[in-house]
Amino acid sequence: MVKINITELKPLLESSKKIIVIPHKNPDGDAIGSCIALNEVLKSLGYQSSVVSPNNFPDFLKWIDDEKEIKIYENNPELYNSEILNADLIFTLDFNSLSRIGLMGEVVKESKAVKVMIDHHQSPDDYAAHIYSDVLMSSTCEMVYHFIAELSLTDKITPKVASALYTGIMTDTGSFKFPLTTDVTHIVISELIKKGANGNEINNLVYDNNSFDKVLLLSHTLSNMVVNAEYNTAYMYLTQEILNKYNFKKGDTEGFVNYGLSIKGVKFAAIFIENEVDKIIKISLRSKGDFDVNDFSRNNFNGGGHINAAGGFSKEDLETTILKFKKLLPQYKAKLR
Ligand code: 5GP
Ligand code: MN
Repeated sequence: MVKINITELKPLLESSKKIIVIPHKNPDGDAIGSCIALNEVLKSLGYQSSVVSPNNFPDFLKWIDDEKEIKIYENNPELYNSEILNADLIFTLDFNSLSRIGLMGEVVKESKAVKVMIDHHQSPDDYAAHIYSDVLMSSTCEMVYHFIAELSLTDKITPKVASALYTGIMTDTGSFKFPLTTDVTHIVISELIKKGANGNEINNLVYDNNSFDKVLLLSHTLSNMVVNAEYNTAYMYLTQEILNKYNFKKGDTEGFVNYGLSIKGVKFAAIFIENEVDKIIKISLRSKGDFDVNDFSRNNFNGGGHINAAGGFSKEDLETTILKFKKLLPQYKAKLR
């Protein structure tokens, strides 16, 4: 764990005016929740702070940004380039390598702003002057709560901030069931409920908000799942054609990969999703126990993440990518038993 020295950061924060808060590309609940929460707290302290996301985020998270404040970099790169270059301070949340924010990465690197990273992924890069990195944390939202608490700012946690942080902790822990869900996570959740987060309502907004098409897409994905008992592995795939058939929207496939792990004995699950626009196959990997998918993704699919949840991509076609995946399994046989 690397922890920000709050006494060093405080004067820096006090001397800053313009702040930008950035989530990773294709932001999830943890990325959006942590950015909105931190941004709200900073605004309440009088800073000129805003969230700039590399690209758009899923509809099921739109309620968190109730004032539609999140700026989408892709929509106006020139404008946001100048905001990034002229910022005093940049917080990068829920990622630890500038390659995770696409083209924005170069601009952030160039910016004179002091960079602060808050993140829980493995192997952080060293682009930030101040780093709070802890791979044992359930979520970046939990870390942002601790960060706010260390700055003695918990009185700034409004119901909106509490709900945003609750969302990220809920989504990144798979509703409080993944291994990094600790007693402290639950204490933080308890504090957030006291501050106005309504768990039942948030659960409904995030999980019971599916379009019929999305459920049909899930049904299609599950009926084509392949289970390889020899390697305790399950994988799924989606072609662009099928995504189009079910009117795919960003976020629609979130959580699909976990169904692989719900099968008795399965320790390793993968989903391969064709993306004709970016010309890549996006890969999501999940595991149970000590099979390290961060390592698997780093070594084979240009990605990374956590021990039990990682992602990556391939520039080869879907069939070739899946074939490569299948051919890799024998060398991991001992670890997949
Ligand atoms: P997901 O499979 O839900 O997209 O991502 C699982 C975890 O792996 C997340 O924590 C995410 O930030 C990380 N991740 C996903 N894709 C990539 C990638 O291409 N590169 C890296 N380094 N991490 C990724
Ligand atoms: Mn996260």
